[in-house]
Amino acid sequence: MTPRYSSLSEVQKDLGVGAITLPELVSYYLDNIERSSHLNAFIEVYKDEIKSQAEIVQQKIQSGKAGKLAGAVIGLKDNLCYKGHVVTASSKILAGFESLYTATAVERLLAEDAIIIGRLSCDEFAMGSSNEKSVYGPVLNPINEKCVPGGSSGGSAAAVAADLCLMALGSDTGGSIRQPASYTGTVGLKPTYGRISRHGLIAYASSFDQIGPITHSIEDAFLYLSIMAGPDQYDGTLFHQGYSLENQDAKPLLIAVLKDCVHREGLNEEVKAAFLNLTEKLKKEGHHVEEVNFPIVDQLVPTYYVLTTAEASSNLSRFDGIHYGYRSKEAKGIDNTYKKSRTEGFGEEVKRRIMLGTFVLSSGYYDAYYSRAQKVRRVIQNKTNEILAHYDVIITPTTADAAFEMGKKSADPIAMYLEDIFTVQANLSGHPAISIPLGKKQNGMPFGVQILSRAFEENQLLCAAQQLNACLKES
Ligand code: GLN
Repeated sequence: MTPRYSSLSEVQKDLGVGAITLPELVSYYLDNIERSSHLNAFIEVYKDEIKSQAEIVQQKIQSGKAGKLAGAVIGLKDNLCYKGHVVTASSKILAGFESLYTATAVERLLAEDAIIIGRLSCDEFAMGSSNEKSVYGPVLNPINEKCVPGGSSGGSAAAVAADLCLMALGSDTGGSIRQPASYTGTVGLKPTYGRISRHGLIAYASSFDQIGPITHSIEDAFLYLSIMAGPDQYDGTLFHQGYSLENQDAKPLLIAVLKDCVHREGLNEEVKAAFLNLTEKLKKEGHHVEEVNFPIVDQLVPTYYVLTTAEASSNLSRFDGIHYGYRSKEAKGIDNTYKKSRTEGFGEEVKRRIMLGTFVLSSGYYDAYYSRAQKVRRVIQNKTNEILAHYDVIITPTTADAAFEMGKKSADPIAMYLEDIFTVQANLSGHPAISIPLGKKQNGMPFGVQILSRAFEENQLLCAAQQLNACLKES
């Protein structure tokens, strides 16, 4: 599936010479959305309002006053607030809830003349790896409609892959940008924790969540990052400096390959072969590639699930049937309102996680689970930093396989949780990571390679991604 435009610079070039106007571009995407409505990626399309916005930005382009993102048509994951628009985290419990303010990241895109085309489905409260757990029903993978697009930002990835918008925002708590990017042949960037304000992102696990872009081009992903990054009075965890896009000299890289990821059971043979082929090519290009030990791979997913469910149980307590969205029709009295509204409003997976999180935080089990997992998180972070003290980047396959068939893992939460095996490390440690397309299986399904770099060194990540991509394009 070749998109009409695969980067913002291509769009801006055409807009600049008048080969297309912004209203025409918006109509192009609206037509595509209509034609692909069976994919179920968009929950809502802001058809009327964007037509007039496109006229306004078009005027600005003609008078030379347009912002840096003029021409960018963007979809939003349904957990990002956009004032005056409904946001539900794809959950019944937020049915009909309208945002009272706009997320800082979205506000910054709008300030540079981006156009927000609509709201994209996701797994309920961003919990999931397949986008089968949305109250709006499953999203289909445009490359093979029998398969899942990945999750939780499955609507975002499907929309970009199917050319329904140029870029889509997602959020990544354990891989929700990178895994769907891997499954749809797109680029997905999770910035360093603390790069982009989380203000206006419906929280899942606050010490893990980051907003990021899904795009066709590597350069675009970092361009959007440079616009969205930087301090914000509403998020106290942000780094004091913004991010400025700088091209680094393409020096030979010191690359660490996590031995325990690449030589583990469960890694698909075709994915493994493509990955090892890439490492060989990188060596031939003069890069230094070495396998390093990371013996705590099996601890990654359990640690992630103890800590994120704990944070989720606390974050989601605000959805009580009183403050927001859904209230049970049979609710009577305060306790009963909480109980009935939460029982009816949350889906099965969200309830499972709230209960798990409440359990690991309960007084009898806090030390055994929650505080122990915090200590393991620190070990994971230290070990990752230790490797990055000697290497520029760490690479692994993004996912152990390509997209799976719908329904295949929905009855088995553990199999679904293991989807995150290679991606959760970056969220546990806070490091930035990107997934770029690595190859395709014989059945045509794409899969990605993940690159992870030192915290707040996204320019190094950009440079490495470009170098790997150049290597991949050569053959
Ligand atoms: N698949 C992971 C989970 O279910 C990651 C989700 C995410 O990054 N939001 O928690």
